[in-house]
Amino acid sequence: MTPSTPAGTRSQERGGSLERVAASSRRTKIVATIGPASSSEEALARIIEAGMDGARLNFSHGAHEDHAENARRLRSAQAAADRPLALIADLQGPKLRIGELAQKISLTKGESIVVAGEDGAHTDDLPVSPAVIGSVLEPGQDVLVDDGLVRLRVERVEAGRAFCRVVTAGVIEAHKGVNVPGIQLPVPSLTSKDLADLDLAIELGVDYVAQSFVRSRADVAALRARLEEAGSGAWVIAKIELKEAVDSFEDILDEADAVMIARGDLGVEIGVAEVPLVQKRIILGALDRGKPAITATQMLESMVHHAEPTRAEASDVANAILDGTSAVMLSAETAVGEYPIEAVETMARIARAIEPSLGYRHQLPGAAEAPTVGRAMSNAACDLAEALGAKAILVPTFTGRTASAVARLRPLRPILALTHVNISLQHMAIEWGVTPLEIPESTDVEDLFGSAIAAARASGLVEPGDRIVLTAGTAVNIPGSTNIIKVESA
Ligand code: PEP
Repeated sequence: MTPSTPAGTRSQERGGSLERVAASSRRTKIVATIGPASSSEEALARIIEAGMDGARLNFSHGAHEDHAENARRLRSAQAAADRPLALIADLQGPKLRIGELAQKISLTKGESIVVAGEDGAHTDDLPVSPAVIGSVLEPGQDVLVDDGLVRLRVERVEAGRAFCRVVTAGVIEAHKGVNVPGIQLPVPSLTSKDLADLDLAIELGVDYVAQSFVRSRADVAALRARLEEAGSGAWVIAKIELKEAVDSFEDILDEADAVMIARGDLGVEIGVAEVPLVQKRIILGALDRGKPAITATQMLESMVHHAEPTRAEASDVANAILDGTSAVMLSAETAVGEYPIEAVETMARIARAIEPSLGYRHQLPGAAEAPTVGRAMSNAACDLAEALGAKAILVPTFTGRTASAVARLRPLRPILALTHVNISLQHMAIEWGVTPLEIPESTDVEDLFGSAIAAARASGLVEPGDRIVLTAGTAVNIPGSTNIIKVESA
Protein backbone atom coordinates (compact mmCIF):
# COMPACT_ATOMS: atom_id res chain seq x y z
CA MET A 1 0.00 0.00 0.00
CA THR A 2 1.42 3.37 -0.96
CA PRO A 3 0.10 6.71 0.16
CA SER A 4 -0.13 7.93 -3.41
CA THR A 5 -2.56 5.29 -4.65
CA PRO A 6 -6.01 6.86 -4.88
CA ALA A 7 -9.08 4.65 -5.06
CA GLY A 8 -9.43 5.27 -8.77
CA THR A 9 -6.03 4.15 -9.98
CA ARG A 10 -6.73 0.52 -9.12
CA SER A 11 -9.85 0.60 -11.17
CA GLN A 12 -10.50 -1.62 -14.07
CA GLU A 13 -12.37 0.62 -16.49
CA ARG A 14 -14.53 -0.99 -19.07
CA GLY A 15 -14.47 1.84 -21.56
CA GLY A 16 -17.75 3.48 -22.41
CA SER A 17 -19.71 0.23 -22.43
CA LEU A 18 -21.28 0.89 -19.05
CA GLU A 19 -23.33 3.92 -18.34
CA ARG A 20 -22.24 5.76 -15.20
CA VAL A 21 -24.43 5.84 -12.15
CA ALA A 22 -26.92 8.68 -12.45
CA ALA A 23 -25.38 12.00 -11.42
CA SER A 24 -28.14 12.56 -8.88
CA SER A 25 -27.16 9.58 -6.73
CA ARG A 26 -24.42 11.05 -4.56
CA ARG A 27 -22.24 8.35 -3.05
CA THR A 28 -19.95 10.23 -0.67
CA LYS A 29 -21.75 10.83 2.62
CA ILE A 30 -21.93 14.11 4.53
CA VAL A 31 -21.63 14.44 8.31
CA ALA A 32 -22.66 17.79 9.79
CA THR A 33 -22.01 19.02 13.33
CA ILE A 34 -25.17 20.22 15.03
CA GLY A 35 -24.96 23.48 16.96
CA PRO A 36 -26.85 26.75 17.41
CA ALA A 37 -26.80 27.40 13.64
CA SER A 38 -28.42 24.08 12.77
CA SER A 39 -30.42 22.83 15.74
CA SER A 40 -33.83 24.41 15.18
CA GLU A 41 -36.50 22.10 13.78
CA GLU A 42 -36.60 24.13 10.58
CA ALA A 43 -32.80 24.17 10.16
CA LEU A 44 -32.58 20.40 10.73
CA ALA A 45 -35.25 19.71 8.13
CA ARG A 46 -33.43 21.90 5.61
CA ILE A 47 -30.01 20.45 6.37
CA ILE A 48 -31.33 16.90 5.88
CA GLU A 49 -32.90 17.95 2.60
CA ALA A 50 -29.58 19.55 1.57
CA GLY A 51 -27.89 16.15 2.01
CA MET A 52 -26.78 15.52 5.61
CA ASP A 53 -26.37 11.77 6.20
CA GLY A 54 -24.89 11.85 9.70
CA ALA A 55 -25.36 14.35 12.55
CA ARG A 56 -22.53 14.92 15.02
CA LEU A 57 -23.11 16.07 18.58
CA ASN A 58 -19.83 17.60 19.76
CA PHE A 59 -19.53 16.93 23.49
CA SER A 60 -16.58 19.37 23.74
CA HIS A 61 -19.23 22.09 23.76
CA GLY A 62 -22.79 22.42 24.98
CA ALA A 63 -24.81 21.24 27.97
CA HIS A 64 -26.42 17.82 28.33
CA GLU A 65 -29.90 19.34 27.99
CA ASP A 66 -28.90 20.84 24.62
CA HIS A 67 -27.50 17.55 23.28
CA ALA A 68 -30.58 15.68 24.46
CA GLU A 69 -32.90 18.19 22.81
CA ASN A 70 -30.85 18.17 19.58
CA ALA A 71 -30.93 14.36 19.46
CA ARG A 72 -34.68 14.36 19.96
CA ARG A 73 -35.23 16.94 17.21
CA LEU A 74 -32.85 15.11 14.87
CA ARG A 75 -34.72 11.81 15.24
CA SER A 76 -38.03 13.51 14.65
CA ALA A 77 -36.68 15.33 11.54
CA GLN A 78 -35.26 11.98 10.36
CA ALA A 79 -38.69 10.36 10.74
CA ALA A 80 -40.30 13.23 8.81
CA ALA A 81 -37.69 12.90 6.03
CA ASP A 82 -38.13 9.09 6.06
CA ARG A 83 -34.40 8.50 5.66
CA PRO A 84 -32.01 6.72 8.12
CA LEU A 85 -29.41 9.09 9.56
CA ALA A 86 -26.39 8.28 11.71
CA LEU A 87 -26.31 10.05 15.08
CA ILE A 88 -22.73 10.48 16.27
CA ALA A 89 -21.65 11.47 19.80
CA ASP A 90 -18.15 12.94 19.65
CA LEU A 91 -16.48 12.70 23.08
CA GLN A 92 -13.97 15.37 24.11
CA GLY A 93 -11.36 12.88 25.31
CA PRO A 94 -8.24 13.81 27.27
CA LYS A 95 -7.94 17.23 25.67
CA LEU A 96 -5.94 19.95 27.40
CA ARG A 97 -7.77 23.26 27.62
CA ILE A 98 -7.19 26.73 29.03
CA GLY A 99 -9.12 27.05 32.31
CA GLU A 100 -11.20 29.98 33.53
CA LEU A 101 -9.78 33.45 32.78
CA ALA A 102 -11.05 36.74 34.22
CA GLN A 103 -10.43 38.26 30.78
CA LYS A 104 -8.71 37.47 27.47
CA ILE A 105 -4.91 37.54 27.61
CA SER A 106 -3.03 39.26 24.79
CA LEU A 107 0.51 37.92 24.42
CA THR A 108 3.29 39.62 22.44
CA LYS A 109 6.30 37.87 20.95
CA GLY A 110 9.20 37.50 23.37
CA GLU A 111 7.26 38.10 26.59
CA SER A 112 7.17 35.58 29.45
CA ILE A 113 4.15 33.71 30.67
CA VAL A 114 3.78 30.88 33.17
CA VAL A 115 1.70 27.82 32.26
CA ALA A 116 0.44 25.76 35.20
CA GLY A 117 -2.10 23.12 36.09
CA GLU A 118 -5.43 24.74 37.01
CA ASP A 119 -5.19 23.78 40.67
CA GLY A 120 -1.63 25.14 41.19
CA ALA A 121 -1.81 28.27 39.00
CA HIS A 122 -0.91 31.67 40.49
CA THR A 123 -2.95 34.80 39.70
CA ASP A 124 -1.24 35.80 36.43
CA ASP A 125 -0.46 32.25 35.22
CA LEU A 126 -2.16 30.62 32.26
CA PRO A 127 -4.26 27.86 33.92
CA VAL A 128 -4.62 24.58 32.01
CA SER A 129 -6.83 21.59 32.77
CA PRO A 130 -6.47 18.71 33.38
CA ALA A 131 -3.82 19.73 35.90
CA VAL A 132 -1.37 16.97 34.85
CA ILE A 133 0.22 19.43 32.44
CA GLY A 134 2.39 20.70 35.31
CA SER A 135 4.01 17.29 35.67
CA VAL A 136 4.77 16.62 31.99
CA LEU A 137 6.27 19.88 30.68
CA GLU A 138 10.02 20.09 30.20
CA PRO A 139 12.37 22.83 28.98
CA GLY A 140 12.45 23.07 25.16
CA GLN A 141 8.89 21.82 24.65
CA ASP A 142 6.35 23.86 22.73
CA VAL A 143 2.91 24.53 24.13
CA LEU A 144 0.39 25.34 21.39
CA VAL A 145 -2.82 27.18 22.15
CA ASP A 146 -5.96 27.56 20.01
CA ASP A 147 -5.07 25.10 17.23
CA GLY A 148 -1.47 26.35 17.25
CA LEU A 149 -2.29 30.01 16.66
CA VAL A 150 -0.27 30.90 19.76
CA ARG A 151 3.04 29.11 20.41
CA LEU A 152 4.90 29.17 23.73
CA ARG A 153 8.29 27.55 24.45
CA VAL A 154 9.06 26.15 27.88
CA GLU A 155 12.31 27.57 29.34
CA ARG A 156 12.23 26.14 32.85
CA VAL A 157 9.85 24.32 35.15
CA GLU A 158 9.57 24.95 38.89
CA ALA A 159 7.14 23.12 41.16
CA GLY A 160 4.77 22.27 38.34
CA ARG A 161 4.81 25.81 36.87
CA ALA A 162 6.35 26.10 33.38
CA PHE A 163 8.01 29.44 32.60
CA CYS A 164 7.52 30.00 28.88
CA ARG A 165 8.60 32.50 26.21
CA VAL A 166 6.01 33.59 23.62
CA VAL A 167 7.21 32.42 20.15
CA THR A 168 4.03 33.26 18.20
CA ALA A 169 1.93 36.11 19.58
CA GLY A 170 -1.85 36.11 19.89
CA VAL A 171 -4.86 36.47 22.14
CA ILE A 172 -5.81 33.65 24.52
CA GLU A 173 -9.38 33.04 25.63
CA ALA A 174 -10.79 30.71 28.30
CA HIS A 175 -11.43 27.06 27.25
CA LYS A 176 -9.31 27.21 24.08
CA GLY A 177 -7.54 23.94 23.23
CA VAL A 178 -3.94 23.33 24.26
CA ASN A 179 -1.59 20.84 22.57
CA VAL A 180 1.85 19.67 23.65
CA PRO A 181 2.95 17.63 20.60
CA GLY A 182 4.70 14.36 21.34
CA ILE A 183 3.79 14.30 25.03
CA GLN A 184 1.97 11.30 26.47
CA LEU A 185 -0.45 12.56 29.07
CA PRO A 186 -0.75 10.31 32.15
CA VAL A 187 -4.55 10.37 32.00
CA PRO A 188 -7.07 7.68 31.05
CA SER A 189 -8.38 7.68 27.49
CA LEU A 190 -11.93 8.18 28.79
CA THR A 191 -12.01 11.05 31.28
CA SER A 192 -14.70 11.44 33.96
CA LYS A 193 -16.42 13.96 31.68
CA ASP A 194 -16.34 11.42 28.82
CA LEU A 195 -17.90 8.75 31.03
CA ALA A 196 -20.76 11.08 32.02
CA ASP A 197 -21.19 12.14 28.36
CA LEU A 198 -21.11 8.50 27.27
CA ASP A 199 -23.94 7.64 29.67
CA LEU A 200 -26.04 10.36 28.05
CA ALA A 201 -25.04 9.31 24.51
CA ILE A 202 -26.11 5.73 25.25
CA GLU A 203 -29.39 6.96 26.72
CA LEU A 204 -29.97 9.01 23.56
CA GLY A 205 -29.46 5.91 21.41
CA VAL A 206 -26.57 7.22 19.32
CA ASP A 207 -25.35 5.05 16.44
CA TYR A 208 -21.66 5.94 16.72
CA VAL A 209 -19.36 7.23 19.45
CA ALA A 210 -16.35 9.14 18.13
CA GLN A 211 -13.39 8.67 20.47
CA SER A 212 -10.98 11.61 20.65
CA PHE A 213 -7.21 11.32 21.17
CA VAL A 214 -7.12 7.56 20.69
CA ARG A 215 -3.59 6.34 21.41
CA SER A 216 -3.84 2.62 20.88
CA ARG A 217 -6.02 -0.34 19.98
CA ALA A 218 -6.59 -0.86 23.72
CA ASP A 219 -8.25 2.58 24.03
CA VAL A 220 -10.80 1.59 21.36
CA ALA A 221 -11.34 -1.83 22.94
CA ALA A 222 -12.00 -0.18 26.33
CA LEU A 223 -14.72 2.06 24.86
CA ARG A 224 -16.27 -0.83 22.97
CA ALA A 225 -16.36 -2.91 26.18
CA ARG A 226 -18.21 -0.11 27.99
CA LEU A 227 -20.73 0.20 25.17
CA GLU A 228 -21.35 -3.55 25.12
CA GLU A 229 -21.66 -3.66 28.90
CA ALA A 230 -24.32 -0.96 28.70
CA GLY A 231 -26.18 -2.90 26.00
CA SER A 232 -25.52 -0.22 23.37
CA GLY A 233 -25.13 -1.22 19.72
CA ALA A 234 -23.20 1.99 18.95
CA TRP A 235 -20.07 1.61 16.82
CA VAL A 236 -16.75 3.25 17.64
CA ILE A 237 -15.16 5.85 15.36
CA ALA A 238 -11.48 6.18 16.25
CA LYS A 239 -10.33 9.77 15.75
CA ILE A 240 -6.77 9.86 14.47
CA GLU A 241 -5.26 13.06 15.83
CA LEU A 242 -2.13 12.09 17.75
CA LYS A 243 1.27 11.02 16.42
CA GLU A 244 0.94 7.86 18.51
CA ALA A 245 -2.30 7.05 16.67
CA VAL A 246 -0.70 7.70 13.28
CA ASP A 247 2.16 5.37 14.22
CA SER A 248 -0.22 2.56 15.17
CA PHE A 249 -3.16 3.33 12.90
CA GLU A 250 -3.18 -0.18 11.33
CA ASP A 251 -3.79 -1.70 14.77
CA ILE A 252 -6.36 0.93 15.68
CA LEU A 253 -8.18 0.38 12.37
CA ASP A 254 -8.37 -3.34 13.08
CA GLU A 255 -10.16 -2.64 16.35
CA ALA A 256 -12.37 0.33 15.39
CA ASP A 257 -15.60 0.20 13.37
CA ALA A 258 -14.80 3.42 11.54
CA VAL A 259 -12.11 6.08 11.55
CA MET A 260 -11.99 9.87 11.42
CA ILE A 261 -9.06 11.88 10.12
CA ALA A 262 -9.43 14.63 12.73
CA ARG A 263 -7.29 17.14 10.89
CA GLY A 264 -7.72 19.96 13.44
CA ASP A 265 -5.77 18.45 16.30
CA LEU A 266 -3.79 16.22 13.93
CA GLY A 267 -2.39 19.31 12.19
CA VAL A 268 -1.29 20.76 15.53
CA GLU A 269 0.20 17.48 16.75
CA ILE A 270 2.18 16.43 13.66
CA GLY A 271 2.35 19.71 11.70
CA VAL A 272 0.05 20.66 8.84
CA ALA A 273 2.55 19.62 6.15
CA GLU A 274 2.25 15.97 7.17
CA VAL A 275 -1.56 15.88 7.18
CA PRO A 276 -2.31 15.31 3.45
CA LEU A 277 -0.27 12.12 3.14
CA VAL A 278 -1.45 10.81 6.50
CA GLN A 279 -5.02 11.40 5.29
CA LYS A 280 -4.35 9.30 2.17
CA ARG A 281 -2.72 6.48 4.16
CA ILE A 282 -5.55 6.29 6.68
CA ILE A 283 -8.25 6.34 4.00
CA LEU A 284 -6.47 3.54 2.11
CA GLY A 285 -6.15 1.52 5.31
CA ALA A 286 -9.88 1.93 5.97
CA LEU A 287 -10.71 1.02 2.36
CA ASP A 288 -8.67 -2.15 2.63
CA ARG A 289 -10.65 -3.19 5.70
CA GLY A 290 -14.05 -2.07 4.39
CA LYS A 291 -14.57 0.39 7.26
CA PRO A 292 -15.95 3.91 6.84
CA ALA A 293 -13.42 6.78 6.90
CA ILE A 294 -14.58 10.31 7.66
CA THR A 295 -12.41 13.25 6.59
CA ALA A 296 -12.92 16.14 9.00
CA THR A 297 -12.19 19.75 9.84
CA GLN A 298 -11.85 23.00 7.94
CA MET A 299 -13.17 21.43 4.73
CA LEU A 300 -15.25 24.52 3.91
CA GLU A 301 -14.03 26.75 6.77
CA SER A 302 -14.51 30.06 4.94
CA MET A 303 -18.23 29.22 4.65
CA VAL A 304 -18.54 30.01 8.36
CA HIS A 305 -18.79 33.61 7.12
CA HIS A 306 -19.20 33.40 3.33
CA ALA A 307 -21.81 31.86 1.04
CA GLU A 308 -19.14 30.48 -1.34
CA PRO A 309 -16.08 28.36 -0.48
CA THR A 310 -12.55 29.19 -1.59
CA ARG A 311 -11.21 27.30 -4.59
CA ALA A 312 -8.70 25.61 -2.27
CA GLU A 313 -11.54 24.33 -0.07
CA ALA A 314 -13.46 22.98 -3.06
CA SER A 315 -10.27 21.17 -4.08
CA ASP A 316 -9.81 19.82 -0.56
CA VAL A 317 -13.28 18.23 -0.54
CA ALA A 318 -12.71 16.90 -4.06
CA ASN A 319 -9.32 15.42 -3.16
CA ALA A 320 -10.66 13.67 -0.06
CA ILE A 321 -13.30 12.08 -2.31
CA LEU A 322 -10.65 11.05 -4.82
CA ASP A 323 -8.59 9.62 -1.93
CA GLY A 324 -11.58 7.35 -1.29
CA THR A 325 -13.11 8.87 1.85
CA SER A 326 -16.54 7.48 2.76
CA ALA A 327 -17.78 10.73 4.26
CA VAL A 328 -16.75 14.36 4.51
CA MET A 329 -17.51 16.33 7.66
CA LEU A 330 -18.52 19.88 8.51
CA SER A 331 -17.75 21.33 11.96
CA ALA A 332 -18.05 25.07 12.65
CA GLU A 333 -19.59 25.54 9.19
CA THR A 334 -22.86 23.92 10.30
CA ALA A 335 -22.55 24.29 14.11
CA VAL A 336 -22.08 28.05 14.33
CA GLY A 337 -21.67 29.26 10.74
CA GLU A 338 -23.75 31.80 8.89
CA TYR A 339 -24.39 29.44 5.92
CA PRO A 340 -25.00 25.94 7.31
CA ILE A 341 -27.42 24.83 4.58
CA GLU A 342 -25.26 26.25 1.80
CA ALA A 343 -22.22 24.43 3.24
CA VAL A 344 -24.00 21.05 3.00
CA GLU A 345 -25.32 21.88 -0.47
CA THR A 346 -21.82 22.86 -1.59
CA MET A 347 -20.34 19.58 -0.36
CA ALA A 348 -23.08 17.61 -2.11
CA ARG A 349 -22.43 19.53 -5.34
CA ILE A 350 -18.69 18.93 -5.21
CA ALA A 351 -19.27 15.22 -4.53
CA ARG A 352 -21.58 14.89 -7.54
CA ALA A 353 -19.08 16.67 -9.77
CA ILE A 354 -16.15 14.49 -8.67
CA GLU A 355 -17.65 11.02 -8.25
CA PRO A 356 -17.93 10.16 -11.95
CA SER A 357 -14.09 10.21 -11.95
CA LEU A 358 -13.84 7.53 -9.24
CA GLY A 359 -13.00 4.07 -10.48
CA TYR A 360 -14.22 0.63 -9.51
CA ARG A 361 -11.61 -1.04 -7.27
CA HIS A 362 -11.78 -4.46 -8.87
CA GLN A 363 -9.44 -6.83 -7.04
CA LEU A 364 -7.94 -9.84 -8.70
CA PRO A 365 -8.63 -13.13 -6.92
CA GLY A 366 -5.86 -13.71 -4.42
CA ALA A 367 -4.76 -10.07 -4.46
CA ALA A 368 -6.27 -9.43 -1.05
CA GLU A 369 -3.83 -10.23 1.71
CA ALA A 370 -6.45 -12.18 3.64
CA PRO A 371 -8.96 -13.66 1.19
CA THR A 372 -12.10 -14.72 2.99
CA VAL A 373 -15.34 -16.15 1.61
CA GLY A 374 -17.02 -12.80 2.32
CA ARG A 375 -14.35 -10.82 0.45
CA ALA A 376 -14.36 -13.18 -2.52
CA MET A 377 -18.18 -13.04 -2.66
CA SER A 378 -18.25 -9.23 -2.64
CA ASN A 379 -15.61 -9.09 -5.38
CA ALA A 380 -17.57 -11.52 -7.49
CA ALA A 381 -20.88 -9.71 -6.87
CA CYS A 382 -19.36 -6.39 -7.94
CA ASP A 383 -17.71 -7.96 -11.00
CA LEU A 384 -21.04 -9.46 -12.05
CA ALA A 385 -22.90 -6.21 -11.48
CA GLU A 386 -20.34 -4.23 -13.50
CA ALA A 387 -20.12 -6.80 -16.30
CA LEU A 388 -23.90 -7.08 -16.63
CA GLY A 389 -24.55 -3.37 -16.16
CA ALA A 390 -26.92 -4.25 -13.32
CA LYS A 391 -29.18 -1.49 -12.05
CA ALA A 392 -28.13 -2.10 -8.44
CA ILE A 393 -26.40 -4.45 -6.03
CA LEU A 394 -28.82 -5.58 -3.32
CA VAL A 395 -27.25 -6.60 -0.02
CA PRO A 396 -29.63 -8.02 2.58
CA THR A 397 -27.58 -7.69 5.77
CA PHE A 398 -27.89 -8.08 9.52
CA THR A 399 -25.07 -5.82 10.76
CA GLY A 400 -24.41 -3.87 7.55
CA ARG A 401 -20.90 -5.30 7.29
CA THR A 402 -21.66 -7.15 4.04
CA ALA A 403 -22.72 -3.83 2.52
CA SER A 404 -19.42 -2.31 3.67
CA ALA A 405 -17.53 -5.23 2.12
CA VAL A 406 -19.21 -4.38 -1.20
CA ALA A 407 -18.75 -0.61 -0.72
CA ARG A 408 -14.98 -1.00 -0.22
CA LEU A 409 -14.72 -1.94 -3.90
CA ARG A 410 -16.44 1.33 -4.88
CA PRO A 411 -18.65 -0.32 -7.54
CA LEU A 412 -20.23 1.96 -10.13
CA ARG A 413 -23.64 0.36 -9.43
CA PRO A 414 -25.72 1.66 -6.49
CA ILE A 415 -25.54 -0.49 -3.34
CA LEU A 416 -28.84 -1.06 -1.54
CA ALA A 417 -28.38 -2.39 2.02
CA LEU A 418 -31.58 -4.06 3.25
CA THR A 419 -32.12 -4.87 6.88
CA HIS A 420 -34.77 -5.09 9.58
CA VAL A 421 -32.26 -3.90 12.22
CA ASN A 422 -32.79 -0.20 12.92
CA ILE A 423 -29.29 0.61 14.16
CA SER A 424 -27.77 -1.13 11.11
CA LEU A 425 -29.80 1.17 8.84
CA GLN A 426 -28.39 4.12 10.77
CA HIS A 427 -24.82 2.74 10.78
CA MET A 428 -25.01 2.38 7.00
CA ALA A 429 -26.12 6.00 6.55
CA ILE A 430 -22.49 7.17 6.50
CA GLU A 431 -21.07 4.27 4.46
CA TRP A 432 -19.96 5.24 0.96
CA GLY A 433 -22.44 4.59 -1.82
CA VAL A 434 -24.88 2.66 0.37
CA THR A 435 -28.60 3.41 0.44
CA PRO A 436 -30.03 1.76 3.58
CA LEU A 437 -33.57 0.40 3.17
CA GLU A 438 -35.79 -1.23 5.78
CA ILE A 439 -37.31 -4.68 5.23
CA PRO A 440 -39.30 -6.95 7.54
CA GLU A 441 -37.46 -9.73 9.39
CA SER A 442 -37.21 -12.93 7.32
CA THR A 443 -36.78 -16.52 8.33
CA ASP A 444 -35.57 -18.02 5.06
CA VAL A 445 -33.48 -16.84 2.14
CA GLU A 446 -36.25 -16.87 -0.49
CA ASP A 447 -38.42 -14.67 1.72
CA LEU A 448 -35.40 -12.40 2.38
CA PHE A 449 -34.63 -11.97 -1.32
CA GLY A 450 -38.31 -11.34 -2.08
CA SER A 451 -38.52 -8.58 0.57
CA ALA A 452 -35.24 -7.10 -0.64
CA ILE A 453 -36.50 -6.84 -4.22
CA ALA A 454 -39.85 -5.43 -3.08
CA ALA A 455 -38.10 -2.73 -0.99
CA ALA A 456 -35.71 -1.88 -3.83
CA ARG A 457 -38.67 -1.40 -6.19
CA ALA A 458 -40.59 0.64 -3.61
CA SER A 459 -37.59 2.96 -3.26
CA GLY A 460 -37.83 3.79 -6.96
CA LEU A 461 -34.11 3.01 -7.37
CA VAL A 462 -34.91 -0.11 -9.41
CA GLU A 463 -37.89 -0.72 -11.65
CA PRO A 464 -39.69 -3.95 -12.50
CA GLY A 465 -37.62 -5.86 -15.04
CA ASP A 466 -34.30 -4.19 -14.14
CA ARG A 467 -31.41 -6.58 -13.78
CA ILE A 468 -30.06 -6.72 -10.22
CA VAL A 469 -27.38 -8.66 -8.36
CA LEU A 470 -28.10 -9.93 -4.84
CA THR A 471 -25.49 -11.10 -2.35
CA ALA A 472 -26.17 -12.36 1.16
CA GLY A 473 -25.91 -15.37 3.45
CA THR A 474 -28.21 -18.39 3.37
CA ALA A 475 -27.99 -18.49 7.17
CA VAL A 476 -30.43 -15.61 7.44
CA ASN A 477 -29.75 -13.08 10.23
CA ILE A 478 -26.35 -14.58 11.13
CA PRO A 479 -23.63 -11.94 10.70
CA GLY A 480 -20.70 -12.80 8.41
CA SER A 481 -22.32 -15.73 6.62
CA THR A 482 -22.28 -14.31 3.06
CA ASN A 483 -22.23 -17.29 0.72
CA ILE A 484 -24.64 -16.59 -2.13
CA ILE A 485 -24.81 -14.40 -5.24
CA LYS A 486 -27.88 -14.29 -7.44
CA VAL A 487 -28.65 -12.44 -10.66
CA GLU A 488 -32.33 -11.56 -10.89
CA SER A 489 -34.86 -9.35 -12.58
CA ALA A 490 -36.49 -6.93 -10.21
C1 PEP B 1 -10.41 17.61 14.91
O1 PEP B 1 -9.57 17.85 15.76
O2 PEP B 1 -10.20 17.73 13.69
C2 PEP B 1 -11.72 17.08 15.30
C3 PEP B 1 -12.59 16.61 14.43
O3 PEP B 1 -12.02 17.06 16.63
P1 PEP B 1 -12.64 18.28 17.43
O4 PEP B 1 -13.55 19.00 16.47
O5 PEP B 1 -13.37 17.63 18.55
O6 PEP B 1 -11.49 19.10 17.86
